[in-house]
Amino acid sequence: MGNDHDVCRCGCGAEHLTARQAEIVSLAAAGLTADQAAQCLGIATSTVQTHLRTMRQRAQARNGVELVARAFAAGILVPGSWPPPLSDHRCLAVRWPPGP
Ligand SMILES: [Zn+2]
Repeated sequence: MGNDHDVCRCGCGAEHLTARQAEIVSLAAAGLTADQAAQCLGIATSTVQTHLRTMRQRAQARNGVELVARAFAAGILVPGSWPPPLSDHRCLAVRWPPGP
C-alpha cells in the first residue's frame, strides 16, 4: 500500500481518502462526534475537523451527513452491518449508474 497521499489511480482524477480519513468517516458514520473520534484515534479534535472539512470539499458535500452518505454511495463504507465497516475502496467518486 502506498503512502498517505496517494493520488487517484482509478481515473477519477481526484485524490483519494487517506487511511486516517477513512477511519474518521467511519467513526462519523457510527455517530461519533469530532471530539469522540479524536479521543478514539488519539489525535486532536481540530485535526479531525480539518480532515472532515477536507473530505467534504473533496466530495463536494454540503455537510457531514452528505459526506457519510457519499462514503456509502462510493463504496468506502459497507452497508449491512453496524458499526459500518470500511471496504478497501478509497475513492469518493460515485459511478452512476453503478457497474462493474
Ligand atoms: Zn478515484
